[in-house]
Amino acid sequence: MRLFTVGPVMMYPEILEGSGKQLPYFRTNQFSETMLESEAILKRLLGAGEGSKAAFLTASGTGAMEAAVAGFFGRGDRLLIICGGGFGKRFAEICGVHGIPHDDVVLPFGKALSEEDLEPFSGKEYSGMLVNMDETSTGQLYDIGMLSAFCRRKGMYLIVDAISSFLADPLDMEKDGIDAVIISSQKALSLAPGISAVVMRRGIYKDRLLRRDSGLYYLDLKHHLLDQERGQTPFTPAVGILLDLNAMLRKISEEGLETWIGRTAHLAAYFRKGAAEMGIPMPDYPLSNAVTPILFGGNAYDVFLKLRDSYGITVTPSGGDLRGRVLRVGHIGNLSEEDYDALLDALGEVLGR
Ligand SMILES: *Cc1c(COP(=O)(O)O)cnc(C)c1O
Repeated sequence: MRLFTVGPVMMYPEILEGSGKQLPYFRTNQFSETMLESEAILKRLLGAGEGSKAAFLTASGTGAMEAAVAGFFGRGDRLLIICGGGFGKRFAEICGVHGIPHDDVVLPFGKALSEEDLEPFSGKEYSGMLVNMDETSTGQLYDIGMLSAFCRRKGMYLIVDAISSFLADPLDMEKDGIDAVIISSQKALSLAPGISAVVMRRGIYKDRLLRRDSGLYYLDLKHHLLDQERGQTPFTPAVGILLDLNAMLRKISEEGLETWIGRTAHLAAYFRKGAAEMGIPMPDYPLSNAVTPILFGGNAYDVFLKLRDSYGITVTPSGGDLRGRVLRVGHIGNLSEEDYDALLDALGEVLGR
């Protein structure tokens, strides 16, 4: 079985070996130390800086998106959302549920985000911007430098869902002027789904989070941060995934972040070159290293089924309007050039190239 999906992804042997073992009790100093170490490594990998905070939630990525949005903003705010696909739309829906006013920068499929798209909103006041750094539904990688400059000019907070970009594309909270980042366990961290984190810089923590009532109970970030100060969580967390997270963060830290991102970037380039040589069309907007969309005239889902049923290869199908038009090939997780050779061979046979 080979997964070229965007979560869950192919896992690493050292993580697979650990799963299935007896879990420890977690209200202990030992577990607390592990959690504090995870927080320190994660903040370093993200360039979060002095006084930054991390909250670990037992929830899928969407739980962390909701915790962040409702923790930082409310009915008295107005947000600007980059809405270029399914995950941008999710931010808009979260704001809708919490009664937070928002304007959406709506990008049709295929269009690259540019400064012109922001222009109509430049005269209006906003408390913050919500963006999915890699809009995983299309694979578009947004220009964080451009978005960050816009936010700084207008005094807006910048909240980045880097769930699929973290460890795949370069990202540095201090340098890129990002106030909060959201990540999740099942993407490039290559762990089981179930743990997500919100990492925030000092300013948004003190001036927003601490001063607001989120209206949330289970997902209240304040409560999580308070407990994380001593390496604990308010409720029983996914203990096993948190232990795996620590092992993975140590592994990435030892290998070096640049090496890690470099490997994914190399695999993305390797696949794109092979696909281009076979004449497989790909979009021309900027792409994240995490995923490559490949374009079809209408039979995308049939190709997905053939790859899965005849070759044991699972790529990522698309939903909604893009179901027949787009398959997405992931580059995160434990994959090698050999895996892409197998995928390209299978694609060649299925497409008759
Ligand atoms: C995977 C992903 C999420 C989280 O989805 P869940 O199914 O809730 O884990 C959120 N945003 C982006 C950009 C993603 O790729």
